[in-house]
Amino acid sequence: MYLKSLTLRGFKSFASATTLNFEPGITCVVGPNGSGKSNVVDALSWVMGEQGAKTLRGGKMEDVIFAGTTGRAPLGRAEVSLTIDNTDGALPIEYTEVTISRTMFRSGGSEYAINGNPARLLDVQELLSDSGIGREMHVIVGQGQLDTILQATPEVRRGFIEEAAGVLKHRKRKEKALRK
Ligand code: ATP
Ligand code: MG
Repeated sequence: MYLKSLTLRGFKSFASATTLNFEPGITCVVGPNGSGKSNVVDALSWVMGEQGAKTLRGGKMEDVIFAGTTGRAPLGRAEVSLTIDNTDGALPIEYTEVTISRTMFRSGGSEYAINGNPARLLDVQELLSDSGIGREMHVIVGQGQLDTILQATPEVRRGFIEEAAGVLKHRKRKEKALRK
């Protein structure tokens, strides 16, 4: 499984439709300050169902919609599509390629689709939940977050590692069972 492409339309600074194609292996996104590198990473979290405006470096959810510049009017909707290669079947779905899309209107509300079929947030979360990507997984390390991890207490740091390794959910389940 690997990320194949990401298309942004009206998302943050990407007013016009922009597609980034990725190959297996490491991809570097390089550009001057303020050119939109972090916005690309925000789009990745957002399309996978991120619900926190702060995580997306905004004050409210609609801050992800292109707000306009001196030469260009604001837009009414943001759209992001992420295509994942699933030839190894890591995602529990009968397709070798999976496209997850999310659209949000300024009037509020998000719509999701999986391979063009309308889906709920829960469907997206379930699709990604055992794949090692998706919401609340520390696979996306934000700017400044490295510092937080380095300065954390050993217990907190262990929590990060356990979550990345997929052990944390089992530990939480065990602790809950023991409390009963
Ligand atoms: P750095 O190298 O400093 O980390 P970067 O390449 O990561 O920079 P981003 O943070 O991705 O840059 O992009 C910031 C730019 O995105 C700013 O110019 C900001 O005005 C613009 N931006 C953010 N949200 C919106 C929005 N809703 N509409 C229009 N532009 C936006
Ligand atoms: Mg940045």
